[in-house]
Amino acid sequence: MVPPPSPRGWARCLDNVADVLRRGAWYPIVDETDDGKVVIEVRKKPVRVSRIDLAVRESPPDRWSIVVRTGLLRPTLGGREGEEVTQTYAVCPQCQERQDFSGKPDSLKCLRCKTESKVDWSETC
Ligand SMILES: [Zn+2]
Repeated sequence: MVPPPSPRGWARCLDNVADVLRRGAWYPIVDETDDGKVVIEVRKKPVRVSRIDLAVRESPPDRWSIVVRTGLLRPTLGGREGEEVTQTYAVCPQCQERQDFSGKPDSLKCLRCKTESKVDWSETC
């Protein structure tokens, strides 16, 4: 048995490419090209993304990412038009599942893959 080649690193998208990649989720880097692109595996498919649009780390992610999303409330939701709402969720480092949480927990257990991981608060305030 030959073990599968380990990824060259792990990448997380910045906000401007969040429509392709899930915010807060880390994806394995499978290849790099000379023109400044990296190829990452997204749901078993290779996706080419500019290196500058990504945050890259060498070790596998082991902490929940916290995503804070601020948007304008739509009037259909009952609030005042233009009112800002903030939505916060955590992204599992193992399976990229989104999960709600309350307070500021040190660790969370994923409801989907049942893995308990620490929460990375370093990028939020
Ligand atoms: Zn999970």
